[in-house]
Amino acid sequence: MSDAATRLDTVRAEIVRAARAARRDPADVTLIAVSKRRSGDEIEALIDAGMRDFGENRVAEASEKWPALLASRPDLRLHMIGQLQSNKAGEAVALFDTIHSLDRASLLAALVAAGEKAGRFPSVYVQVNVGEEEQKGGASMADLPALIGAVRASPLPLAGLMAMPPQGVEAGPYFALLAKLAGRHGVAGLSMGMSSDYPAAVMLGATAVRIGSALFD
Ligand SMILES: *Cc1c(COP(=O)(O)O)cnc(C)c1O
Repeated sequence: MSDAATRLDTVRAEIVRAARAARRDPADVTLIAVSKRRSGDEIEALIDAGMRDFGENRVAEASEKWPALLASRPDLRLHMIGQLQSNKAGEAVALFDTIHSLDRASLLAALVAAGEKAGRFPSVYVQVNVGEEEQKGGASMADLPALIGAVRASPLPLAGLMAMPPQGVEAGPYFALLAKLAGRHGVAGLSMGMSSDYPAAVMLGATAVRIGSALFD
């Protein structure tokens, strides 16, 4: 087995273990390989090992790397996981299947306009600033209900809620908070969990985990 295949096996086994511990079906958890700053060769090794969902955090970098990788592989799915500027909405709609970082009404409007032009509407997660951190992306808890309502009234399918908990503290309570917000608003999907904390995220209901270093290093 390649190193990439070994790492992928390990992460998948962890997801299965965490899901079973919480009496969840592991098939309900989508593993997204976060390939930001990774080369085409590193990405190809994971594709060969069976990885199909990939996440990037910058439109410019993704637009350089991915068209060539996607050309011969229409079954891959690309996820935008980083902060998105409205003036990149056109490029984002063309490239990504799912956007995890919708955090404001003006960005939703830009994505809708771009989607209508392209005839293609990516699904979106509403990102929540669960730690109420000044510098972090994500809608505030106060703005969340209106933003969820606006997505539901738009042509973009609502995939769920996404969060990046504050660094350096235990993530579990923030995952639980995101799950509670999703329940309150009748939202199904939960994009949460990275290399350092995805087993906890899966136990607390994650339906998509975004993993970089554990798959690539
Ligand atoms: C980089 C990144 C990840 C993955 O981080 P790792 O610690 O490498 O697993 C997940 N989510 C977002 C939004 C990221 O930017």
